[in-house]
Amino acid sequence: MSSEPVHGGGPDTPGGESTSGGPDTSGGRVYLVGAGPGDPGLMSARALELISLADVILYDRLIPDGALDGAVAGAELVYVGKEGGGSSADQPQIERLMLEHARAGRTVVRLKGGDPFVFGRGGEEALALHDAGVPFEVVPAVTAGIAAPAYAGIPVTQRGIASAVALVTGHEDPAKSESDLDWGALAAFPGTLVLYMGVARIEQIAAALIGAGRPASEPSAVVQEGTLPGQRTVRAPLGELARAVAAGGVRAPAVTVVGPVSELAGELAWHAAGPLAGCTVAVTRARAQASAMARRLRALGARVIEAPVIRIRPLAPDPEELELSGYDLVCLTSPNGVHLLFERLVTAGMDARALAGARVAAIGPGTAAALADHGIRADVVPERFVAESLVEALEQVQVRRALIVRAARAREVLPEALRARGAEVDVLALYETVAEPLSAQALAAARAADYITFTSSSTVSFFMQAAGGEAGFAPSTRVVSIGPVTSASLREAGLTPDVEAESHDIDGVIDAILAHRGSSA
Ligand code: SAH
Repeated sequence: MSSEPVHGGGPDTPGGESTSGGPDTSGGRVYLVGAGPGDPGLMSARALELISLADVILYDRLIPDGALDGAVAGAELVYVGKEGGGSSADQPQIERLMLEHARAGRTVVRLKGGDPFVFGRGGEEALALHDAGVPFEVVPAVTAGIAAPAYAGIPVTQRGIASAVALVTGHEDPAKSESDLDWGALAAFPGTLVLYMGVARIEQIAAALIGAGRPASEPSAVVQEGTLPGQRTVRAPLGELARAVAAGGVRAPAVTVVGPVSELAGELAWHAAGPLAGCTVAVTRARAQASAMARRLRALGARVIEAPVIRIRPLAPDPEELELSGYDLVCLTSPNGVHLLFERLVTAGMDARALAGARVAAIGPGTAAALADHGIRADVVPERFVAESLVEALEQVQVRRALIVRAARAREVLPEALRARGAEVDVLALYETVAEPLSAQALAAARAADYITFTSSSTVSFFMQAAGGEAGFAPSTRVVSIGPVTSASLREAGLTPDVEAESHDIDGVIDAILAHRGSSA
């Protein structure tokens, strides 16, 4: 039945007739969509289209960076990933969610890494939908077992070398007596074996294959993070593969290729690793702001550990306070402040014209960019992005009445300096920074990272709070600070900033890591 063509059932017509037969015709539809192996460029046009039309997206862990960027603003994005790809305890819960949303008439995208029907449990989910009579479509995608080898320069079939390829799960313990896999038959398979999910068991798997007759000398390869900037390949004969994997610190996600085609990587490897490949970077800033930074780091090959220790909490609006006229200078000290200011303006029935008579100063390019998003070009942006520099940059500017839009409990440098120059200064606090609880897992990962980044003083104090007062960094962990103010907070907390950004913004932090990495490599 799912092979029947879908008539008039485009996602933009979720109320269209159900063609999957069953009794439920309330209008919702579920799309089981493959997002490909990780390179966002390998997502299909159909996948991107459906993401842009979905009311609800239930997504997995191994989906490409930015895969959800095209979702509409009101779409509900629900993470249903399983850490390590292991436990299936949540599977019934995922199926229940799919059904609930579809029955409520919503267009549901169930977004999975790779292809939904290749070790993706897409078949089980399709059966659940079928049984419930909920209409569905399947959007196949590039599977990791083909794409990761391709990016590593390994064609899984090659004339005269391999005329067949088998996709195999390495999740099962070969020693398990009730194993679904016939290792003898696999060893005898006349072609390339591609194993998914097997890095942790590589030693037992190689032993099982060799024990069943596969030559220990057979060329093999493991490709970690295939198609991603952090891609790495380890090649060795099957008998030595486990040792090479351990020595190389190869981790999931990775696929293992067993077969003479592996050797072609020697000539055909074409995908250059990013400068931060193999390097982990912890990001402690608020989740809402972390994604752009994380994306840039990942594009350079880093593995990003998201460990947000703070959260931005907007302060309850007091309409009285939102009187913007009469100021000749308005200072914005963060992108958050800009966005919240405009949110309030809109709520109060105003727009950018409320800032008309004033000069507008931004503390740095991020804040200036946020202003530009709202149609305002900042008149003043200092060269160094700290309050002291803004004070300097404003020296030549005539100020009678100034408004400073910022966080509660911020440094007083700017208001004090302007008051000292005789200006009348009002401070409008639009948000505060509060602690975000950190899971034990995220804390442990952040402590073990190659670099841990602190992008404000509050990330330092809230990290120390989340860490129970003891930073507990691994000896090899390098502490990265966005600038002198944050470095001072680090020292106060008893920590040493190993790397300090020259430019006190996110690009500066990333440049500093690149420079440090370059000099220590
Ligand atoms: N449905 C997915 C596979 C899900 S099982 C697909 O078709 O690709 C998860 C396993 O896929 C991982 O354990 C790993 O073996 C493999 N995998 C997923 N993404 C990968 C990547 N970028 N590089 C290498 N292997 C990957």
